[in-house]
Amino acid sequence: MKIAVLPGDGIGTEIVAQAAKVLEALRSDGLKIELEYAHIGGAGYDAAKDPLPEATLKLSQQSDAVLLGAVGGYQYDTLPRPMRPEQGLLRIRKGLGLFANLRPALVYPELVNSSSLKPELVSGLDIMILRELTGDIYFGQPRGIRTLDNGERQGFDTMHYSESEVRRVAHVGFQIAMKRNKKMCSVDKANVLDTSMFWREIVTEVAKEYPQVELSHMYVDNAAMQLVRAPKQFDVILTGNIFGDILSDEASMLTGSIGMLPSASLDANNKGLYEPCHGSAPDIAGKDIANPLATILSVAMMLRYTFADEANAQRIENAVRKVLQQGIRTGDIWQEGMQKVGCAAMGAAVVKAL
Ligand code: NAD
Repeated sequence: MKIAVLPGDGIGTEIVAQAAKVLEALRSDGLKIELEYAHIGGAGYDAAKDPLPEATLKLSQQSDAVLLGAVGGYQYDTLPRPMRPEQGLLRIRKGLGLFANLRPALVYPELVNSSSLKPELVSGLDIMILRELTGDIYFGQPRGIRTLDNGERQGFDTMHYSESEVRRVAHVGFQIAMKRNKKMCSVDKANVLDTSMFWREIVTEVAKEYPQVELSHMYVDNAAMQLVRAPKQFDVILTGNIFGDILSDEASMLTGSIGMLPSASLDANNKGLYEPCHGSAPDIAGKDIANPLATILSVAMMLRYTFADEANAQRIENAVRKVLQQGIRTGDIWQEGMQKVGCAAMGAAVVKAL
């Protein structure tokens, strides 16, 4: 199994180094993997004047899975848009056809007090947000800034979803729901948007193929409210690109730290790109204080979804739990009485617990 490793920018290099340690530990236990590194984001721009250098896309296409750190940094903020680090992300998702983005929001018992909500609201929380990743208003054309006949300038974007785009992500959602509690809530804005009305129609149609799954629908504004009011009512949430972007960040805070949240982005054949949900955190980059657990847990997702290696996926997740039980914490999840460690020491603790 070949894994393309793309550390990217900021804390990306630090956290990916810890995830690589975990992979190396599994390799020394017999897991047959090969890691190959390449640049993306600002690092891609620095190396090849492109946030997604040709060589990086090629390596990723030829690999079985991609492990990504994060992209972005203050020094790239003034570059023209096509050269910005985030374009590397959008392009690799599109280039690999990664249309299904899985973001679990799971509250570990040890971190229940890190949540911004009351412990009783989040204790035992386990939600899977499935966000469509390659369509919607983020990719719709036309878009731009134009001057109207009356001389006023206007910014505009286009929201659209084709039937096949909705169908394929709905199938992924129902299949995930079948492996969990057979409950899925599709989130849209069908009371206002035609795109959403169409989304709801297709999801309802696909649901007929999964009669065991209880499907509900919710408007996105209500979903945003319900997520902080009573988050445990949700199991799988299926939604489009822009709504999923916002709701999954909201859900991440329920868990206490964005530094704990892994993600998987899959194509039609379960080839995937795995990355933490957070960004490159330039404010703490280079200080060895970032939390590497989201990236390490992304490796667990890689083993589960792309390599169908449930045993090793659970082994990593159990190691992370064990480290938390031991009271070992990076600064973002640290509490009085716990042992505060840096990024590298946290990686080492997980490897030891493995
Ligand atoms: P961010 O996620 O990088 O940081 C938000 C806050 O969370 C910061 O205070 C940061 O220090 C903290 N944080 C994030 N990850 C952490 C970790 N592992 N451990 C401890 N603390 C952590 O988001 P931002 O500040 O809005 O964006 C910074 C840069 O990252 C921007 O250039 C942005 O475009 C980029 N970004 C990239 C991705 C990605 O690569 N997938 C996602 C979001 C933002």
